[in-house]
Amino acid sequence: MKRPFVTRSQLDEIVKEYPTPFHLYDEKGLRENARRVNAAFAWNPGFKEYFAVKATPNPAILKLLREEGCGADCSSLVELLLAEKCGFRGHEIMFSSNNTLAEEYRLADKLGAVINLDDLTHVAFLEQSIGHIPETVFCRYNPGGVFTLGEGKDGLQVMDTPGDAKYGMTRPQIAQAFRALRAKGARTFGIHAFLASNTISNQYYPELAGILFRLAAELKEETGCHIGYINLSGGIGIPYRPEEEANDIALIGRGVQQKFEEILIPAGMGDVRLCGELGRFMTGPYGCLVTRVLHFKHIYKEYVGVDACAADLMRPAVYGAYHHITAAGKEDAPCIQTVDVTGSLCENCDKFAVDRPLPPLEAGDLLVIHDTGAHGHSMGYNYNGKLRSAELLLQEDGGVRLIRRAETPEDYFATAVW
Ligand SMILES: *Cc1c(COP(=O)(O)O)cnc(C)c1O
Repeated sequence: MKRPFVTRSQLDEIVKEYPTPFHLYDEKGLRENARRVNAAFAWNPGFKEYFAVKATPNPAILKLLREEGCGADCSSLVELLLAEKCGFRGHEIMFSSNNTLAEEYRLADKLGAVINLDDLTHVAFLEQSIGHIPETVFCRYNPGGVFTLGEGKDGLQVMDTPGDAKYGMTRPQIAQAFRALRAKGARTFGIHAFLASNTISNQYYPELAGILFRLAAELKEETGCHIGYINLSGGIGIPYRPEEEANDIALIGRGVQQKFEEILIPAGMGDVRLCGELGRFMTGPYGCLVTRVLHFKHIYKEYVGVDACAADLMRPAVYGAYHHITAAGKEDAPCIQTVDVTGSLCENCDKFAVDRPLPPLEAGDLLVIHDTGAHGHSMGYNYNGKLRSAELLLQEDGGVRLIRRAETPEDYFATAVW
């Protein structure tokens, strides 16, 4: 059973001050989880988790994660500016972009960020953009084909298709990139790969680590380059569905350590520092979208209309993603009706849930849409003249702080040329 991190009585207080809908984040959960991640990899001196800014680009969240020792993983100009404004400096910033603009490389270089190249052609493009090649540089690897992880109880645990993904370099290209970068002055190299998304498996990171550690040992032999870093990137998932089991980050850390000892230590590469670029795992479960029930509609199906819409959370509309929904104060009530929970966009995909069992509801009830802490507010948009909602932080002391105000019509009109 999935329970929200916020109670009915807390919500009743919050909505007196802040109108629905809003995204609410749980400071305690965020901090404790960040500490678990760092503890899981503490065996690797120099480990750094670079939080994937795109998941939750809110200054308060970024600063909080920075306080917990995280860096910032950026992939655009504005994300770089945001990281700088939040106090991230130099190698606390990872720049993992693709199809990159010259001005983005220039800003990443100016900030002293670690630059992660997505393509072989970007060796020359980077040099042309910033006038030199940095001493430390990463390259992104794409092994192609299909990536799978063994059998779970419901069949294959994970399957993704790097061969169809636009990211990274092929095996021959990454060796070529290393040689070219070294010839232009690079001294310390990093390897990065992101092979599967939202993996509910404690084997993903260890399996990926095995692939990258073997690649690192080969590239060291082949090119003589010093590989100082291996970046396991994002992809550790969260249990969106009540029947799914959460990943165990401590177990994942030990799995990676085992591969490290099996592969890198014998290769004389025990000085390699690991990095992560987790997004979803860092913030996903520690945010929710709070929305109020407005209308009931009985036609060919039963509909519950709420005051949030896909512009506040697009994952269900775009990916058919499951987000658990509970009604505040009715968490233990039996789910005796099956409804679609809809927003008000003029798009039939604007549904937070389809055929979802829920308890009896009344107009005015507060619904908590779970696990919106990553790729929730950040994917917001203004379609249909919808304004992005506020973001609030439920602090460790129980108080609530506004960390982004809701948009106003003036914000919407601000870019128009009349
Ligand atoms: C999106 C992204 C991440 C984070 O992915 P999660 O699935 O949220 O962990 C990390 N690195 C890069 C380069 C990304 O594009």
